[in-house]
Amino acid sequence: MHSMKHNRLPVLVEPKIAGSRREMMTGKIVANHLKRLHQEANQTLSEVTCKVEFNVDLQQITYFKGQANAELDLVCQRCMQTYRERLSVSFCYTPIEQACKIEELPEVYDVVEMNSNGQINLHQLVEDELITSIPLIPAHQNEQCHQGTNDVSVGDIDESETEQRQSPFDILASLKNNE
Ligand SMILES: [Zn+2]
Repeated sequence: MHSMKHNRLPVLVEPKIAGSRREMMTGKIVANHLKRLHQEANQTLSEVTCKVEFNVDLQQITYFKGQANAELDLVCQRCMQTYRERLSVSFCYTPIEQACKIEELPEVYDVVEMNSNGQINLHQLVEDELITSIPLIPAHQNEQCHQGTNDVSVGDIDESETEQRQSPFDILASLKNNE
């Protein structure tokens, strides 16, 4: 369990090997390693904390599941003041070879393509997950909003809209399914 010593989450990981070892990786990603998210956050992104567990399922499919948390400042679209938003994501992926057919994989897994060395970029994956979880219409919790609870736009914040945002991996998967 050498991975427990990592204070920083590794960038490149070989998921097949980590899966066979049932490795658990916990660690942090410094904000400025996640350039796109850091920019979205207007440079106010906190450190990202992550936990990822690698394993092999009963069908001998390698998978990994994890969680990531971060905080960033967003502008409330009701009162236009900055507030601190907490992002929290969970994910579950199976790594696939490049250009592999993926129809037979169980639907519980999202897919992530390995590079030609059998590696995935864990930081990029976590960053994509966190970007996808940023609210489409950022806003305070009602009681904290400077507009009070008497706002006009809260009805516009449709939770289902947020859920419908697809990760790049989902899009990739659906493209592949249509091939
Ligand atoms: Zn507000």
